[in-house]
Amino acid sequence: MENIKEIFGSMVFNDAVMQERLPRSTYKALKNCLETDTPLDLATANVIANAMKDWAIERGATHFTHWFQPMTGVTAEKHDSFITPAGDGTVITEFRGKELIKGEPDASSFPSGGLRATFEARGYTAWDPSSYAFVKDDTLYIPTAFCSYGGEALDKKTPLLRSIQALDRQAMRILRLLGSDAKSINTTVGPEQEYFLIDRELYLKRRDLVITGKTLFGAKPPKGQELEDHYFGAIKTRVHEYMRDLDFELWKLGIHAKTEHNEVAPAQHELAPIFGGANVATDHNQLTMEMMRRLARKHGLVCLLHEKPFAGINGSGKHNNWSISTDTGVNLLEPGKTPAQNAQFLLFLCAVISAVDDYQDLLRISVASAGNDHRLGANEAPPAIISMFLGDELTEILESIEHENSYTDRKKSLFEVGVHYLPSFAKDSTDRNRTSPFAFTGNKFEFRMPGSSMSISGPNVVLNTIVAEELCRFADVMECSDDVPATMTTLIKNAITAHKRIIFNGNNYSDEWVAEAKRRGLLNLTSTPDALPHFLDRKNVDLFTKHKIFTKEEMESRYEILSEGYCKTINIEALTMTDMARSQIIPAAGEYLASLGKTYKAACMCPGAPAARISDAIVKLSGLLDRAYADADALDSAIAGIKNCSDVTVMSKYCRDSVIPAMNKLRITADMLEQNVGAKYWPFPTYSDLLFNV
Ligand code: ADP
Ligand code: MG
Repeated sequence: MENIKEIFGSMVFNDAVMQERLPRSTYKALKNCLETDTPLDLATANVIANAMKDWAIERGATHFTHWFQPMTGVTAEKHDSFITPAGDGTVITEFRGKELIKGEPDASSFPSGGLRATFEARGYTAWDPSSYAFVKDDTLYIPTAFCSYGGEALDKKTPLLRSIQALDRQAMRILRLLGSDAKSINTTVGPEQEYFLIDRELYLKRRDLVITGKTLFGAKPPKGQELEDHYFGAIKTRVHEYMRDLDFELWKLGIHAKTEHNEVAPAQHELAPIFGGANVATDHNQLTMEMMRRLARKHGLVCLLHEKPFAGINGSGKHNNWSISTDTGVNLLEPGKTPAQNAQFLLFLCAVISAVDDYQDLLRISVASAGNDHRLGANEAPPAIISMFLGDELTEILESIEHENSYTDRKKSLFEVGVHYLPSFAKDSTDRNRTSPFAFTGNKFEFRMPGSSMSISGPNVVLNTIVAEELCRFADVMECSDDVPATMTTLIKNAITAHKRIIFNGNNYSDEWVAEAKRRGLLNLTSTPDALPHFLDRKNVDLFTKHKIFTKEEMESRYEILSEGYCKTINIEALTMTDMARSQIIPAAGEYLASLGKTYKAACMCPGAPAARISDAIVKLSGLLDRAYADADALDSAIAGIKNCSDVTVMSKYCRDSVIPAMNKLRITADMLEQNVGAKYWPFPTYSDLLFNV
């Protein structure tokens, strides 16, 4: 085996490489810019660019690209070579500071949600020096933010960077009041990535998988996940080889791929990295998804990152583990060892509790997509209702703080903030509840609603911003107080009283919880069209503009892009369905019907041979076939109606209320046909073929 230590980060222009390759003064200038968030001067940029180029060429690079994250959810890149004519017919390699700092890709081919109409087509990419450059496929990749000519964010990185800054600003106000020696905070994120692996040959035979990334048809296989034999089961050789290969490729890129195991569903797996800063973690997760897809091909496999590739079988999510850490290495969501540290922990905890309750809608919106709608609430993933799991111990402590003097229960004792010690919350006492969408797991929160294919930028932008807002409210009060500890206790107590309705330690999958949540006044935004319009609610526009995460125009543009994305996805899936029904399923059923007709005739030729069941089968099949025609016609009409919708809001609701039900109807008929048509007639691989053939 190759030496892991040598391999790890070998393709990354990281801090160690910079220290080695940059002149001391340049390195210091760059560090200073990073710490003070100031732009780099051109002379320094020129030196860095040149060193980067030489380093990249040694690793086989011939090109460079600004790598960015437009609103499509995947990454984009445009490659330029390092060559420059020397004037005498030869070339030299060159990479200037100007090219490192700024690029100008044409923005007009990326979603802008109307921003393009008012501004120029030109877009800018700007180097993000807080995420290291790296070499992949003979190219030097430079992580960048992407914005319009007027400076409007057109990507997923810009708001994330802004939200990290907003949280830093507010958290530091609190920490300074508490006498901390920290200079800054960062949000830490560890996204656990779920995925399916299936055989590539079989995949290519399914138009739905190829076009939409999920199956649109498929009867339930005789065996699914009911034996519960896949979770943590022995990893099959082909999958094992894939995982090893993936680890090595990710390690080269400096990605801390750590844990791999089989998931609950057949053919489902998970990869968890070691957590890092939110910005880099987001870049790394994008790279991980890209590598997962690409390496699968080499192993004759396909990696499905869709949230719900198979009906009736668990979907895939991405658990976003989130915390706040100081530059001095203190995890602010770790219960401390002294009463004073515990008071600080409780204050930050209460900021998160208040944030999740006040902005349930934004958290739900941050995970809304056509694909994830099939997963949330499907009794396997968290429901669409946002609540928080804290575990019994911590909940009891909060109750004790809230009830103060009126506390009577003998079992529990009064907990005084700043006086008492908190127990440490072992992971196993906090992590038992797997049904909660937002769980405290000892020293971090695990947001379990994000879908497997999504960028984690959105959920973290929301988390950072809403917690920044609550910290801001706390800091506003504390800065005016003469008695900070007493004020803190009051703030903590008030937050618990006002927001305890969001805490739920029970089974989130139960029907009783849906009723209970309604009684508590919690939101239940079951579909994307229900959730998205809340993005533009007054309180949310106020929040994002106050903390300078989005302008109102940027929010409107994002609403437009997300709604459009939802409608386009449904439209493509619906078109793929009618296509498969008419060109594959209906003809196959027809052929089998004709063969049954021949069988019947043959039976009737022998006087006395029983043929009643054969004729029953013919009647049943022709009934289903006729229904398939009718269902396909109905879906065609539903699709035709999409273009009559006046705007994206109306269109999303129309897709949900008219197109999806027509899709579901056609699927039921087609899946019944699958169960009534001879296997050799069926035009594509079945669920059993796909799920048990890796
Ligand atoms: P599991 O959920 O598989 O039992 P862990 O709870 O140890 O395992 O970790 C899950 C994920 O959470 C990992 O990606 C890990 O790096 C990440 N994680 C651990 N601590 C933190 C933290 N303080 N901030 C963000 N992510 C974290
Ligand atoms: Mg987890």
